[in-house]
Amino acid sequence: MMPYDDTNIFAKILRGEIPSTKIYETDAVLAIMDIMPQSEGHCLVIPKSASRNLLDAEDAALQSAMVEVARLARATKSAFGADGVSVMQFNEAAGGQTVYHLHFHVIPRYEGLVLKG
Ligand code: C5P
Repeated sequence: MMPYDDTNIFAKILRGEIPSTKIYETDAVLAIMDIMPQSEGHCLVIPKSASRNLLDAEDAALQSAMVEVARLARATKSAFGADGVSVMQFNEAAGGQTVYHLHFHVIPRYEGLVLKG
């Protein structure tokens, strides 16, 4: 398993070293808007615990994160008038991951609109 490297950009955001557009924060997670949204309202749930991805994450971090993913899915669907929501999560480069701190994408979806990619 690859080690966790705390120089990743989400670790820096969690430490307040670089800015983000914060939606809300709990003891367990930070929710932010994605800087390169694939649809209007694309946001991220970032667990605060030091996990690289799903492959090394502890159950407690995953459980609390998923509650917030669902909460944010309902909120973004309502706030942006979306028709549905996609939840995405990537693990390691081959799995599409580019930032090596566990995070979940919450992507509002609109009838007839494909993701920007
Ligand atoms: O593929 P992966 O899930 O690792 O993608 C990381 C995501 O983090 C991208 O959607 C990117 O736009 C987002 N990001 C961000 N703020 C940053 C750096 C990356 O929202 N400062």
